[in-house]
Amino acid sequence: MTAVSYDVVVLGGGVAGCVLASRLSEDAGRSVCLVEAGPDYGPDPGGWPARTLDSRALPREDVWERNVPVHRFRGRVIGGSSCVNGCWNTWGSAADHAEWERAGGPRWGSAAMEPYRTAAVRRMGLREVPDRELSPWSRAALRAARELGHHEVDMSLPGPPGHGLPLINSVDGRRWNAALAYLDADTRRRPNLTVLGDSVADRLILRDGRVEGVVVRTRGVPRTLHAGLYVVASGTFGSPALLMRSGMGPADRLRDIGIDPAVDLPGVGANLSDQPGVFLPLVPTPELDAALAEKERDGELYVNRVLVRAASEHAPADGWDLHILPSAGPPLFGSLPPGRYEAGVSAFLVKPVSRGRVSLRSADPDEPPAIDPAFLSDPDGRDVAVLRSGLATARRFAGSAALKGLAALPEGPPAHELPEAELRARLGTYWHPVGTCATGPAADPSAVVDGEGRVHGVANLRVADASVLPTVPAANTQLPVLAVAEMLAAAMAGS
Ligand SMILES: Cc1cc2nc3c(=O)[nH]c(=O)nc-3n(C[C@H](O)[C@H](O)[C@H](O)COP(=O)(O)OP(=O)(O)OC[C@H]3O[C@@H](n4cnc5c(N)ncnc54)[C@H](O)[C@@H]3O)c2cc1C
Repeated sequence: MTAVSYDVVVLGGGVAGCVLASRLSEDAGRSVCLVEAGPDYGPDPGGWPARTLDSRALPREDVWERNVPVHRFRGRVIGGSSCVNGCWNTWGSAADHAEWERAGGPRWGSAAMEPYRTAAVRRMGLREVPDRELSPWSRAALRAARELGHHEVDMSLPGPPGHGLPLINSVDGRRWNAALAYLDADTRRRPNLTVLGDSVADRLILRDGRVEGVVVRTRGVPRTLHAGLYVVASGTFGSPALLMRSGMGPADRLRDIGIDPAVDLPGVGANLSDQPGVFLPLVPTPELDAALAEKERDGELYVNRVLVRAASEHAPADGWDLHILPSAGPPLFGSLPPGRYEAGVSAFLVKPVSRGRVSLRSADPDEPPAIDPAFLSDPDGRDVAVLRSGLATARRFAGSAALKGLAALPEGPPAHELPEAELRARLGTYWHPVGTCATGPAADPSAVVDGEGRVHGVANLRVADASVLPTVPAANTQLPVLAVAEMLAAAMAGS
């Protein structure tokens, strides 16, 4: 094994990892090494696979696992899940920030986060949806939202419930991921920044409450990297797995799989919070199929562009707990004959109370962790109630004057009245898992890191990615994770 030293090693080159490596290497006196398990396609979009950059669909290349339940999908490539995602960027409510501030302190409050949100919007090049990207279905969905009394709001800011368009990290059908945005050619020319692709962080080496090194396997070949500070940014599934392989986690569970616990942190892998939802399918009219086909011929067909923040009776005051998404286009999974499309309205729970878990099956970094999202598992049945409320709203959209001429409700009982078992069978995910290394004070046994990402009980180790969010925001998570990574990078840099 060869050993190399840096000031900071960032483990995981996804959304947060790209922000951290870019911001921390702005100081020429700080050497930074970014370690990513997947390929590094470089700063030039010409060097990237065309399918990975095509923002009209969700790519299935460069992922950790294929042919698995959809909630397990995540990117394994420089740029992480920003290379495989839907390119939507929205922001949560004031109530989310109140929750975050209670867990992480003033840095997590709404006003304190604003400069980081703005910096992320700018550096990611987030833009408004161009008019030509609205299909006839999306235009009708905007009319339906107005018809049903949902006011227009800015989706990239906290604010009231309502309807609008997200900001997108897509330009003329090209997905602009976090690596292209934060690790551009100028940034990569910095002599103090090293990017190691195809390199899996196997485990951290701990001694007397400090990290002494990290074993990294580059295309199978192991070596040890040393640093003053180790920052784990391997995502909601990868970060708790790396901590647990290194002996940090629930002590009894670690012993069960033959890992010696070094630091007993019961919260590692717990508190998994993802946003489940159900798609209400409709039957498109031949006119809608024809209009969508024309849009597809022009290369301008996007399945969904319109979003509604809706509130069930359980939503916080002035907040929302549902995203309602009218969509029409090629199916996300499977296929239809040419010229035929899928249309419908989805209801996603954006503030679920159920909590799942990520756990290790073994200490082998090549064995995927067990991921139990535990959707709709809260004993009071609140998540099921919110889902039913969302599906009732989705049905009102389907029945609106604006949409009902384009697609019809299928026969049968309304989705919001279906037996619970059937709702569960139809459950999908919005792909926004967070919380498996949650932020909170050391006195809270479920907390893993403090408000600046420091791992409780370990001197020179931080976690800084979606896994540290104390609760899932009522939003798509990419922009919140970018902003949190900007904030944590500034904290690490001492500003
Ligand atoms: C299919 C899909 C669609 C989505 N759509 C949207 C959307 O439209 N809008 C939105 O806001 N959000 C969306 N998201 C969520 C968003 O992409 C995530 O919130 C965001 O990427 C989280 O950032 P992260 O840095 O925590 O993790 P990631 O971006 O997943 O990065 C983690 C990185 O760590 C690497 N890694 C893991 N383990 C190791 C290891 N042991 N060693 C080295 N490297 C490792 C991974 O390969 C990966 O590159 C979507 C996600 C998915 C999967």
